[in-house]
Amino acid sequence: MLFGKHYPAQETLQVEGLPVICHLQRSKRKSLALHVRYEGVEIRAPLHISTSDALRFVEKHHQWLTRKLDERRKRAAECLSLQDGGQIHYKARTLRVYLENAEKPAVVIESERMIIRGPAITANKAERVLKHWLLEQAKSWLPARTRALADYLGVNHKLANVVFRKTRSKWGHCTAKGIIQYNWLIMLAPDGVIDYMICHEVCHLLHMNHSPQYWQSVSRVCPDYQRYVGWLKKHEHQLWF
Ligand SMILES: [Zn+2]
Repeated sequence: MLFGKHYPAQETLQVEGLPVICHLQRSKRKSLALHVRYEGVEIRAPLHISTSDALRFVEKHHQWLTRKLDERRKRAAECLSLQDGGQIHYKARTLRVYLENAEKPAVVIESERMIIRGPAITANKAERVLKHWLLEQAKSWLPARTRALADYLGVNHKLANVVFRKTRSKWGHCTAKGIIQYNWLIMLAPDGVIDYMICHEVCHLLHMNHSPQYWQSVSRVCPDYQRYVGWLKKHEHQLWF
């Protein structure tokens, strides 16, 4: 039996200036604590805490909460999600993902939507459909452009093969034997970034290092390469799935 006023175990509160709902959760605990969750803020409180005391506690930590919520929103917004209604960064645009049941697997870009189709489609199946789609794009785009640039730079004879692999750490790689490897996820990046990647790898056929001479060759082919290096640094985490 509790003494004094008996408060409900759970309450939802709207706090002025906070963009989310606060869920007040009373339990047999001794102190107040705040937790930022995807669905809102959770206030964990002892059983005897009144609603107004809980509100005062939230208000006291208003700044901290706002900062936490901002961080969370930013991270969530940047995360690629192949769930229905999720988002994907494609060619520097943010598209909403729509999963659609269809007999034939396909990916269709329609205004601000990326529609991923397939039989009994789920997020997992959508991943396979999208992988296949990106790999097909990579195959039709990257080898031809790689060969053309190698030809232009007079190193076509050094280019043994162009292969594709999804690696965690790299967008491209050029081996000493002249095999250029691309991560097909790069097809999600803007065309300028893709061209820079091609330039980066093909210039390794001239210089097998990142020496000043190597970067000179890169800048002759791709004068604003630093912009693309910067873009990758800032955005590459958005392209992974
Ligand atoms: Zn390199």
